[in-house]
Amino acid sequence: MIKEATYIGSYVREEKCPEPILPEYIFIGRSNVGKSSLINMLTNKDGLAKVSNTPGKTQTINYYLIDKTWYLVDLPGLGYAKISRDKREDWRKMIYHFLKIRPVLQYVFVLLDAMIGPQKIDMEFMNWLGENNIPFVVAYTKTDRVGSTKLPENIKAIQTEILKTWEALPTEFITSAEKNIGRDEILDFILANNKNFKEEIEI
Ligand code: GDP
Repeated sequence: MIKEATYIGSYVREEKCPEPILPEYIFIGRSNVGKSSLINMLTNKDGLAKVSNTPGKTQTINYYLIDKTWYLVDLPGLGYAKISRDKREDWRKMIYHFLKIRPVLQYVFVLLDAMIGPQKIDMEFMNWLGENNIPFVVAYTKTDRVGSTKLPENIKAIQTEILKTWEALPTEFITSAEKNIGRDEILDFILANNKNFKEEIEI
């Protein structure tokens, strides 16, 4: 369980972000995927991340300090449709730059809506992460909304798509912000990885 989650700030460029000394986990997904709800569920803090951001609002890299030991980074706007093509392209470049150069990045959590099958932009993004050796895991969101037959079907369709370019599947988490599903699994994963991070810097 997370004891303390504190909003630190929002930034438009990597250079402005907090000093890179703690392990960072990036949460990203298409708009409306359920990212804010998942962050609030993980941190057990309603309203920490805003649910359903106002369209057209400035996009920023949002930092939350968790238990003074790691950062949860909310990175919005993957393929955000309601802004101009130029702005979208500028933001995509910023995101890619951030992910490539951030030295303390541990894992990108790619959020995929369990209600819908594979989407081109998500697949392209995961392929790009792979090409750039950026570690990622997948979190399926809103699984409570999908029936018990449909859920494995949708997940299977996404996995089949992933296996077209990958030899193995990434670590996957089944989540529901509504039903508090997936919190322990995600936090256990992060805490186990933080131990490795600590050992690496102590060596
Ligand atoms: P974001 O744009 O990715 O930050 O997505 P939000 O967290 O704002 O969620 C988008 C919509 O999906 C909102 O109406 C949420 O109430 C809904 N939602 C998010 N997570 C869940 C979930 O786990 N279950 C259900 N049933 N609805 C969800």
